[in-house]
Amino acid sequence: MATFSESALVLFSGGQDSATCLAWALTHFKYVETVGFHYGQRHAIEMECRSVLRKKMVALQPTWQHVLGDDHLLNLSDLAGLSETALTRETKIEWDKQGLPTTFVPGRNLLFFTYAAILAGRRNLRHIIGGMCETDYSGYPDCRDDTIKALQTTLNLGMASHFVLHTPLMWMDKADEWRLTEDLGGKPLVELINHESHSCYLGQRDEYHDWGYGCGHCPACELRRKGWETYQQEKGIYHV
Ligand code: ZN
Repeated sequence: MATFSESALVLFSGGQDSATCLAWALTHFKYVETVGFHYGQRHAIEMECRSVLRKKMVALQPTWQHVLGDDHLLNLSDLAGLSETALTRETKIEWDKQGLPTTFVPGRNLLFFTYAAILAGRRNLRHIIGGMCETDYSGYPDCRDDTIKALQTTLNLGMASHFVLHTPLMWMDKADEWRLTEDLGGKPLVELINHESHSCYLGQRDEYHDWGYGCGHCPACELRRKGWETYQQEKGIYHV
């Protein structure tokens, strides 16, 4: 039974975090829509994972079939031209003097939530869910809890609205996230997200590892591998 009797919009990229958020939202809300963004990513792998995840996720749980509604794709392609980052062009992934990696796209999450709020207002969806996380993030300032809370206030003031921004992964590490996934949908959901979600910054899906597809070396793959290994160690042997 849903915790909330209202409707929600999930920022859904096709990565592990947003896939977990979608399962969380399908469990807790009575109706859920998804939104994805084209922002000039240097690879489109995540976008391809989106429709597969949506389709296979609702096939896992009959109740989710009735909860999942429309999917929306919004174009923010100007973002790639405005920012020079390793996510939008062939730049090496490294860290600057402030400790921020070149994968940081300034303002990206602020834009995502703002666009999502405009869409949510039109679609009459009050709750907006994002996979931002402060625990083992790469230092992205727009993933911070304070940033999201301030943005919720700003959006509600600026749009005379009453949106609630949810970030269910905010205080979880990647191992916690897998445990949450297991709570939400058991082993089948863990297997589905492991196989069909995408995290690798380089967009590689040629090689499958225990923890999913990816190059195995970029910061996103490293984080995902460590999280999976910790999750496995804590729960004992588990065969995917
Ligand atoms: Zn990678």
